[in-house]
Amino acid sequence: MLYLVFTVDGDWKEYFDVKLSPEKRQPDVKRMQDLIEREMEAAARCLEGRFVHFIHASPCAGNFFLKEPFVASWRLITQGGGDIGVHCHEDLPYSEYYFEDTPRMKKAISAQVTALRGLGLEPCAYRGGFLAFSHTLIPVLEENGLYFDFSCEPGRHLVHNGKVVSDWRGAPGSLYRMSYADHRKEGDSSVYEIPMGVSAGSYLYFEKSDLKTIEKAAIELKNRSAGKDIIVSVLTHTYEYRSGETVEDIVDKISILKKYGRFINIEELKEVVKHLPGEKTV
Ligand SMILES: [Zn+2]
Repeated sequence: MLYLVFTVDGDWKEYFDVKLSPEKRQPDVKRMQDLIEREMEAAARCLEGRFVHFIHASPCAGNFFLKEPFVASWRLITQGGGDIGVHCHEDLPYSEYYFEDTPRMKKAISAQVTALRGLGLEPCAYRGGFLAFSHTLIPVLEENGLYFDFSCEPGRHLVHNGKVVSDWRGAPGSLYRMSYADHRKEGDSSVYEIPMGVSAGSYLYFEKSDLKTIEKAAIELKNRSAGKDIIVSVLTHTYEYRSGETVEDIVDKISILKKYGRFINIEELKEVVKHLPGEKTV
């Protein structure tokens, strides 16, 4: 069976435009609210609410997404069959990246999780900004009860000024339990990686793949899942839900994927994991 977890990273376009002034790079309440509402409406319509929204956290945004009207949205997402995760952008895009600074990452991740739990919300997943990840974060995720990581794009190797930002070379193409020593290898940590779906260099990354590419990858993944379970994620961003037209493009891609796989939420993912050979309960 091919299982798919639909995900949305809660980023806005201006965040990545470092030519703008710090003020202009800030998120706008009304614009973010409109985008998130469109995202939630599409998920309710096509996915029975089954998706993970990764709440953006960064030095730029501060506690912007930990206030209303956004907290009400996070509550509605979880009440509607979806899940929330933490999306830490400890960076100044294309300039400074702090993903290898484990004490700093630990502080950022723990602060988000604690704040969300304080609001009565239950984050259960993590994704690094720029899909960055370090094996030293695995104990940090465990301490924070984040047992599902979605940072992996198999094969990704992002380097900036000679320093590695994100390295997923050689990572498996389906769910695996991460090794404490190497996040790209199977091991015995309590954190599961749900890599982005990929086939022959084509990713289930909506912004980068057209409808034909998505279908080609889905067919191949479906074929690969004969006799076993393949569990992968699908990536979109909040800023992609900017108009009726862009939403319809996303909906079309979801419809294609539904022909070949089943979209599941985190509760259902836990059930699937429980039944994998040799797996423990999470
Ligand atoms: Zn992001």
